[in-house]
Amino acid sequence: MERRPRLFVVSGPAGVGKGTLVTKVRELRPDLGLTVSATTRSPRPGEVDGVSYHFLSDEEFTRRVEAGEFLEWAQVHDHRYGTLRSEVDRCLAAGKSVVLEIDVQGGGNVKRIYPDAVRVFIEPPSWDVLVGRLRGRGTEDEASFKLRLEDARQELDLAPTYDVRIVNDDLQTAVRQLADTFESYERYGGTSNNGNH
Ligand code: 5GP
Repeated sequence: MERRPRLFVVSGPAGVGKGTLVTKVRELRPDLGLTVSATTRSPRPGEVDGVSYHFLSDEEFTRRVEAGEFLEWAQVHDHRYGTLRSEVDRCLAAGKSVVLEIDVQGGGNVKRIYPDAVRVFIEPPSWDVLVGRLRGRGTEDEASFKLRLEDARQELDLAPTYDVRIVNDDLQTAVRQLADTFESYERYGGTSNNGNH
């Protein structure tokens, strides 16, 4: 069966490894469109403007909100993040599926605008593993680490509202499950475990 381009949302708490997962799936599927979000937070070491994010000042972010440039945006942790309409349109116009790696608020907003969007939630094997990964990442100061943990609890509560849930325990397994999920929705409109095959 032909692949039909779909809009995918991938969410999950900070530290769960969703960025790595999406990057690995893209290596298998270079045809997948990945949008670059805008944010008001500062770049972490190694992050490149226009590649990791469009890093915007507060004023510039507000200007773009007012100009209607965002498909969705949300306050996540202590900064604003948003998906630019132009990024999504660019991919869809090229006939590519789009993967939005966004938080649960954004996931809810996208579902309202695109009811056809498929939402995938990435879960940690356990709470302790998540705490360990987030600490090990070492990119956060203590206050920001605590905030991310509090937010993680709230994000995990919303996992049941997602279409598909994947536990990121063994990375290779999770990569395959995410790639299979994309493929199943593109080809068959669903996965074998939700009865849509
Ligand atoms: P980080 O600061 O660790 O890169 O990202 C923090 C959170 O912001 C993650 O949960 C990520 O999914 C979310 N995020 C990144 N881009 C967007 C976006 O465009 N919209 C929304 N709603 N959330 C985003």
